[in-house]
Amino acid sequence: MEDNLLNNLPGTRDLLPDEISRWQLVEDSTRRIFAQYGFQEIRTPIFEATELFARGIGGDTDIVGKEMYTFEDQSGKSITLRPEATASVVRAYAQHTMYRGAGLTKLYYIGPMFRHEKKQKGRWRQFYQIGAEALGSDNPAIESEAIEMILQLLASMKVTTRLLINSVGDPNCRPRYVELLRQELRQHLPHLCEDCRRRSETNPLRILDCKVESCQPYIQRLPKITDHLCEECARHFRAFRDHLEEAGIGYEIVPRLVRGLDYYVRTAFEIVSGGLGAQNALVGGGRYDGLSEVLGGPHVQGFGFAMGLDRLVMILPEELCSGIAWRPEVFVAFLGDAAFRLALSIARALRGHGRSCYVEFSGGSLKSQLRLANKLRAQHVLIIGEDELAREKYQIRRMVDSTQWEITLPELIRYLQLRQP
Ligand code: AMP
Repeated sequence: MEDNLLNNLPGTRDLLPDEISRWQLVEDSTRRIFAQYGFQEIRTPIFEATELFARGIGGDTDIVGKEMYTFEDQSGKSITLRPEATASVVRAYAQHTMYRGAGLTKLYYIGPMFRHEKKQKGRWRQFYQIGAEALGSDNPAIESEAIEMILQLLASMKVTTRLLINSVGDPNCRPRYVELLRQELRQHLPHLCEDCRRRSETNPLRILDCKVESCQPYIQRLPKITDHLCEECARHFRAFRDHLEEAGIGYEIVPRLVRGLDYYVRTAFEIVSGGLGAQNALVGGGRYDGLSEVLGGPHVQGFGFAMGLDRLVMILPEELCSGIAWRPEVFVAFLGDAAFRLALSIARALRGHGRSCYVEFSGGSLKSQLRLANKLRAQHVLIIGEDELAREKYQIRRMVDSTQWEITLPELIRYLQLRQP
C-alpha cells in the first residue's frame, strides 16, 4: 500500500508553533546554564560513517544490532544517521586535535538522534538529546560537576529527579568480576530470558541491565560489582561520592546500573524522573576513557551524558509554560487601503525599535481583526481607521483590561519602551 504523503512517518513528529516555546525554554536555559559551567557548543554532522557508530557504540548493542538508519550513498559508502552523539564528538575532538594545549575540553550539543525503535510511549525514532562531554580529565570532580550542571538545569525546569550512580570498574578489576558473574549465572541460566542466556556468553555485564520481569529475582542475587572494585576504582568512586556530597547532591547507589562496553570505566549514572512512567530515564552517562582509542584516536579520558529532550519537555510543569508562548506586543488593525499602507509602515517603525508586531494582510472588518488579535493573544491592538489617518493619531487598546486611548506613533514607542525595560 502506498504511504499517505500527508502523514509523517511513525516515530517522528512535527513540533508545531504551539509547542515550540517549551522546547526553546529548555534550550535557552541549557545554553545559559552550560555556559556558566564552561561548556561550549559543538555541532557535528547528523550522518557519519557507519563504522564510527558500530565501533563506538558496540556491535552487541540493540542500537547497532537493530536500530540504526543505515544506507549506502551514491558512492557506495555505508552511512548512518547518528543514533547518539558521543562517538561523533570524540571523533571531532581527535580530528581537530582539540587536546593540544587544552587540559580539559568541555563540549555540549543539542540535536536530533535517530533509532529505529519499537513503538512505545516516550520513545521516538527521531528524538532529541542534550548532551555534554568533558574530555581530557580523569578527575572525579568533573563527574560531579557535570552532574551538578544537568541537575541545575532540571531544577530550573522544576522537574523532580533521582540520581542513580554506580562504578563499573576498569580493565584491571572488571574481568575478574565478569568471570565471577559468569560462574554465578550458570546455576540461573534455565530461568533467564533468551537475551540473558545469550549474553551470559557474549557480555554477562549486560544481564544486570535486563528489564524482563522474570529475570529480576535472579539478577538481584548476583554479586555486586561495587564489592569487587580494585583499590584505584574504589578510591575514585569514594572521591566521586565525596564531591557529590560536598555539592549537596543526593544519590542512590544502584549496582545493576552498568554499561556493557569495555571502554566504559568507573562512574556510570542515570537520572530518572517519576513523571515519566515506564520509560523513566531522563539522563544517562558515564566515563568512557577508552572510546577514542577504539575509534583509532589517542588515549582520551572522557566523561559525559545525554538527556532525552522530548522526555523533559513532556514533563515540564504547566506553571513554567504559561506565559512563555509567543504573542505580539502590538496587533495593527486597519480599515481601508490607505490605512493598510500606513499599518505596514507603522509595523516597520515599531520593529525598528525592537517591538514585535503583527499585521493581518487580508484586512477584513475591525471585528474580525480584533477576533484574530485575541486568538494571537496580542497585548495591544493599534487601530488605524480613515479618521485617524489624517490626524496621525490612532486608537490603542490594551487587551488585558480593554482600556483604549488615543496615541501618536512616537508616544506609542515611548509607552512600549517604558512598559518593558
Ligand atoms: P542513551 O543514549 O540510550 O543513553 O539515552 C540517553 C537518554 O536519551 C535517555 O535517558 C532518554 O531520555 C533519551 N532517549 C533515548 N532513546 C530515546 C528515544 N527513542 N526516544 C526518546 N528519548 C530517548
